[in-house]
Amino acid sequence: MVTYFSFFLVVCCFFFGVYFTTIKAFIWLCHCLINKAFIEEMYLKAEKGSLAGHFDFSGKHWGVQVTLSWLKDKTKRISLLRGIIQLAFWFIILYASIIGVGKGLLLFLIIGANLFFGRVFCGWICPLGFYMDILTLLRRLLRVRHWALSKKINSYLHMTRYLIAAAILLLVIPSFLFGAAGVTEISNLLTLRHPFTPYAFLLEPLQPIVLPWRPPFGALLELNGINLTFPYVGEILLYLRDTGLSLPLAYIFVTLILLASFKVRRFWCRFCPTGISIAIVNRLRGFRWLPLLRLSKKGVKCTKCGICSRVCPVQVEEVYEKNDGTIDTSMCMLCLRCVEMCPEKDCLSLKLAGRTLSRSRNWL
Ligand code: SF4
Ligand code: SF4
Ligand code: SF4
Repeated sequence: MVTYFSFFLVVCCFFFGVYFTTIKAFIWLCHCLINKAFIEEMYLKAEKGSLAGHFDFSGKHWGVQVTLSWLKDKTKRISLLRGIIQLAFWFIILYASIIGVGKGLLLFLIIGANLFFGRVFCGWICPLGFYMDILTLLRRLLRVRHWALSKKINSYLHMTRYLIAAAILLLVIPSFLFGAAGVTEISNLLTLRHPFTPYAFLLEPLQPIVLPWRPPFGALLELNGINLTFPYVGEILLYLRDTGLSLPLAYIFVTLILLASFKVRRFWCRFCPTGISIAIVNRLRGFRWLPLLRLSKKGVKCTKCGICSRVCPVQVEEVYEKNDGTIDTSMCMLCLRCVEMCPEKDCLSLKLAGRTLSRSRNWL
């Protein structure tokens, strides 16, 4: 345990130390040391690139590129900040798994946070969301276009979330009845993961890929004592363990999800039962006023350019369509991509208890 904790601390310190030192050093270098001609040349290249084209030029100056993007392109700051926070939470969640923080407590914390802050968990914390964001970043670096789902398919997928979540939650009742009648095999099957309850399934997006312990139902791969897995793989390995197909099907599942998430942004979030289960709390009458964190729009500033709907990773249309006021769709994950990319000053903003935390800028 002490070894794991020390390892975790060393990795965190290393990451944050190296990252912030690198950024600071490059800012300092850009401002003081590197010759101005070089910086101007980099700016010019950045100017010529497309919106996502700041990583176009030669790989050897990546640190300078990141710094220049940070300094010049303020619209990238939220994405960079979100990436850092997602990575930090990935380590925290890995540590929580190592020390064995109860699943019930985690779900309680996530739902509690959702009550007061909306779906911030999905936009800024969820490890599975983070993996999908890394794939999106990779796709953008490779300059591969994403697939935008049609409005109809997208809304069907979003509706499916309710069905999956309801099915998972409602299975508790027959499971309890079969359990009471002594038919434990069926009861165990219906609880989705004996001896746990459906909340184990709902917490699968929190699964760290790297496990320094042996998972109860096996892993995708074992490398020098480190096990590799993926969200929902534990369930596949458990339920199909007697068929001999569990591992191949787990690989097929992971490959399909990764491929789909590479082409379709936040693919799994479109029908994720966890996302809707935590969002639904705020949909209940009497709870809608609770979230302190809200995305809002000033319709008078909107030019209907459509950027917000194009950049939204889950293709939320309400931001574009709404004329004025708070965006309260359950699909919004508060990732703030629309706020950072909206080119009209003060048109979109994120407010915490009425106080503006972030707002769109006139950056075009
Ligand atoms: S919808 Fe599901 S997978 Fe997506 S970020 Fe939320 S919990 Fe994670
Ligand atoms: S990006 Fe901003 S200005 Fe453009 S349509 Fe959306 S809200 Fe309106
Ligand atoms: S509407 Fe904006 S904040 Fe909400 S998910 Fe889409 S891009 Fe993110």
